[in-house]
Amino acid sequence: MSIVTRFAPSPTGYIHIGNVRSAIYPYLLAKQSDGKMILRIEDTDRARYVEGATELIENTLEWLGLNWDEGPIVGGPHAPYFQSERKDIYHQYARKLIAAGRAYADPTPAEKIDEYRKQCNEAKVPFLYRNFRPEHTVEWQPGIPLRFKSEPKEYDWHDEVMGDMHAGPETEDDIILIKKDGYPTYNFAHIVDDAEMGVTHVMRGVEYLSSTPNYLALYDALNLARPKLVSLPHILAPQGNKKLGKRDGAKSVTEYRDDGVLAEAMLNYLACLGWNDGTEQEIYTKDELIKAFSLDRIQTSGARYDETKLLWLNGQWIRRIFDEQGAEALYARTTGFWPEAAANHDDAYKLQVLSIIYDRLKTLSDLRTMTNYFFIDPEIDLEMLTSNKFLKNLSEAEIEELLKTSITTLSALDTWDADHLQATLNNLLIETNKKPAELFSLIRLALSYAPFSPALDLTMSVLGRETTLARLNATARAM
Ligand code: GLU
Repeated sequence: MSIVTRFAPSPTGYIHIGNVRSAIYPYLLAKQSDGKMILRIEDTDRARYVEGATELIENTLEWLGLNWDEGPIVGGPHAPYFQSERKDIYHQYARKLIAAGRAYADPTPAEKIDEYRKQCNEAKVPFLYRNFRPEHTVEWQPGIPLRFKSEPKEYDWHDEVMGDMHAGPETEDDIILIKKDGYPTYNFAHIVDDAEMGVTHVMRGVEYLSSTPNYLALYDALNLARPKLVSLPHILAPQGNKKLGKRDGAKSVTEYRDDGVLAEAMLNYLACLGWNDGTEQEIYTKDELIKAFSLDRIQTSGARYDETKLLWLNGQWIRRIFDEQGAEALYARTTGFWPEAAANHDDAYKLQVLSIIYDRLKTLSDLRTMTNYFFIDPEIDLEMLTSNKFLKNLSEAEIEELLKTSITTLSALDTWDADHLQATLNNLLIETNKKPAELFSLIRLALSYAPFSPALDLTMSVLGRETTLARLNATARAM
């Protein structure tokens, strides 16, 4: 049996971390067996439809490299892949159920249904619509909802993650199949589509687990084979006490991209959120994930979202791309992440800056805050200099003297490269009889006025002779 999975998002807003993980596992499962992943847009809730949300879903999947085999843009044998364009198919299935006596048009007004619900609440009994089924049914026609006629019984089934499940008849009800606007409900549409599209593994959030008996009843009533059911545990808020939501910082995936998180890191992080292969490995390429993934190692409990871990992993990926694919490959990803002042500098120079700073970056947008002084003279901040923990015991005269000695010695250097600079800096330590922390902090600050900079020899070699000496002079003059 060839595996067919699907990612079936509703275009109701931006696509956040929690949503997108439900695309990663179906993708990995399909790819490891040469199967297929379908992208299906579940847009039948017209009230919640958000313009542009489908494009955002597509862009996010494309960015992460989760290429779907059938669906919007690429097409396929089961088109259309937008549920709003499949109304006729749902209506055909609905008529089959009517003909079999398993669905009925329900003209009961909404106020009446609210009343039933209220009665049950007051009596403290669960509200089951099947107990209020209208006595006289009408012919199904536009404007009247169509309901399933449940025949409650016990159900046993196996969930590939949650294990063997059992539910009693109290979990089944006369659920709405087609709403009064003629669109199907999720409950009905996904059953029809998964069957029509040959989906073998229905992988989705665990929130659908409690409705499963209703789905099983529908498979039976429609004579459809049950697909394998795979409930994915929730991604929890950092505190671990509830499902991750927008208020807990569940940013959209594209926001992370725009903040300089790499697709490789995002995919790696999310795949390992709620799944592991039993080893200590933390960094996985997409191909490694495809090989290592297995349903039986998806955890049953929720996984806590940890942005610090994501950013750590991103730092690892930035290094990995530099080390394995080269400086240019990483540089190609940095467009749009440089500080404004970098606009007047050429690629070769920015590449040099990147090459000495890449291993300190957590996100690419750190370039914006960490590299400004490579492109523009920093503002002199004597307070920062004199309050530095290594410099605060030196008098201003001593600082000025140290800077002047450094300028003289550095000016005499013939070859301005990192090796010669390092040797000269070492000589300067002997000449001035200072500790590295003192002398090097002073030079580093006078060059950058930044809380951090890469190794001094590298920083000076990239800044060049002229800029380095000019900045040391400027601070010496300001003392
Ligand atoms: N459209 C549903 C949602 O976005 C999909 C659930 C499913 O994958 O079946 O939650």
